[in-house]
Amino acid sequence: MAEQQDKVIVIGLDAAVASLVEEYIKSGDMPNLAEMRRRGGYALLHSVFPGVTPVNWASVSTGAYPGTHGITDFLIVEPGAALDSGVNAFLSGTRQAETLWEAANKAGLKTATLNFPGAWPATTEDNYFIAGLGSPATRSPFEIRPSACFATLGLIDGLRDATPVERVDGDGVVSAKVHILPDKDVQGSGPELKMYTAQNPDGEAGIFIQLSGGDDWAFIAVNHWSQWFTVDFTVEGQKLPGTMRFKLAQLSEDMTEFALYCSQVMSPATYAEPVEIGQALFDELGPFLENCGARGYDRNWVGLDTYLEEGEYKGIWLAKAARLLVEQHDRDAVFLKWHFLDHIQHSIWGHFDPISAFYNADEAEEYEEAMRRSYQIADGLIGELLPLLDEGVTLVVVSDHGHTPHLRAMSINNLLAEHGLITWQPNDDGVADIDWSQTKVFGGPALGHIRVNLKGRDPEGIVPTEEYEELRQSIIQLLLSYQDEETGQNPVAAAITKENAVSLGMWGDRVGDVVYLMAAGYTGDFNWSPLTPDGEIIAEIEPGRVSDADYGEGKFIATKFQSAHGCGFPNVVLGRGTEEAVLCMAGTGIKPDTQLGRHAVMVDVAPTIAASTRLPLPAQSEGRVLHQLLRKS
Ligand SMILES: [Zn+2]
Repeated sequence: MAEQQDKVIVIGLDAAVASLVEEYIKSGDMPNLAEMRRRGGYALLHSVFPGVTPVNWASVSTGAYPGTHGITDFLIVEPGAALDSGVNAFLSGTRQAETLWEAANKAGLKTATLNFPGAWPATTEDNYFIAGLGSPATRSPFEIRPSACFATLGLIDGLRDATPVERVDGDGVVSAKVHILPDKDVQGSGPELKMYTAQNPDGEAGIFIQLSGGDDWAFIAVNHWSQWFTVDFTVEGQKLPGTMRFKLAQLSEDMTEFALYCSQVMSPATYAEPVEIGQALFDELGPFLENCGARGYDRNWVGLDTYLEEGEYKGIWLAKAARLLVEQHDRDAVFLKWHFLDHIQHSIWGHFDPISAFYNADEAEEYEEAMRRSYQIADGLIGELLPLLDEGVTLVVVSDHGHTPHLRAMSINNLLAEHGLITWQPNDDGVADIDWSQTKVFGGPALGHIRVNLKGRDPEGIVPTEEYEELRQSIIQLLLSYQDEETGQNPVAAAITKENAVSLGMWGDRVGDVVYLMAAGYTGDFNWSPLTPDGEIIAEIEPGRVSDADYGEGKFIATKFQSAHGCGFPNVVLGRGTEEAVLCMAGTGIKPDTQLGRHAVMVDVAPTIAASTRLPLPAQSEGRVLHQLLRKS
């Protein structure tokens, strides 16, 4: 198949941790990556700071440092904007440098991005877009509604945010109904779901379900999935087909109480651009699932098996779609990013790493297996695409950062407030109302940056220029001298002025006035800058105080995360984790069985892809070509 020659597929495995990848290659759990490594080049990869998802995928796709591509954090404070504001770092319009796909399109090549950060809204006509934006956590503009759990009253208490079903019992049958509505932020309607618990003709206990608009009753046994359904919804006046499937997560012995999990509802008409490519992939591969299990697991709706099944469904879908796009839809390069490893590691890492307060040796086996299974699934994605190497396609497996156990969270803003540098009060929702007329500095919006509220620059600036330098030095001293009383450690490993942060790849007006890096095991204002009435500066990450807030609510959510990344130096090793990521490339331009003798940096990926394939170098690329991996022509 000569027409496949010189095509490229980038397989982005978000948060594939170098230490685990190497452990599982050695144990035989990642045979496909092992083969790819034998046939190609391999390198440990260091993230750029901060080592988080939007920043590092932007560096992978542009070959540029954060100072140049402008993605300096999870949320970006634009010059002149409020210091606690933030622009979404996953949107294409936030990025200030050209990507590999934009450069390729300019050169007449056709591309596709699948769940790849920075690709939406479209910037070129020759790129196919498959949802979503970046780190699919809860809400998405491409879904009809997020996942849900429909439960009877006897079970609902333990299931956060579950939807109660209306019981309509009769004739000895426990039956119920509920309307599946679009997300609560939009106007619309959806199908009615009718259900009753019973045994099927084989004597298995389960539930029969029927969606309005459909004729047949479907049976789901306990812990099993239904088939996929496609049903009409109305969203903001527009009629859309929605796809979903159900899993019977719980059924009481007497069959009177149940919890039914409903996957995220996506529409074949809205998850891709152009719409026709979304329809074509839907016809070939079935429904697309943007979220992969974290929401249901976090809320106790489903267990690890369902989390893994949704992650695998999405991953294999993405890999098969990538293959179809190069083989049948004339794409020259495809960029896919699968987020599952990041989510599941944040959710369960503590249970599998003896260094964590969550660890319990008696229960560790289940989590050990779940982690192994997660990397086996990652390897399965690679396996779907490995045969393309024989057709001349170049494959690139890359992760954006690692994970290390999350032991203690530091609230930088609570420390600043304690020293009178921030004045605030909690509003009715428990979120901080900041009195900018009495606030000199502010940390955030996510991590690594502290901004001075400078007169003449910031909208409500109060610090005169002549005090700026002295204030910055005093903040640096405050951060570096702070000690965690319980451990005797300094949680802040480094604090520098923005001028010195140039050595980290951070420059320009999107960088904070002070940049700080945390010591191993500590996060600082990780999701997001919490100001809490208790004034607590250090929170231990431990069972019993897990936050049930979500992203974007302005609440303290650091205690959700049993592992973390990106707050410190990119080479940190702790417990079973490391901040280090991995790069593996194989193809006609890559030397077989070559390991780079040093680490590479995230910005080196794009120039090395450009040097070994026919993809052009993005305009602002500033990384190095990893010559050692290239086949001499
Ligand atoms: Zn990531």
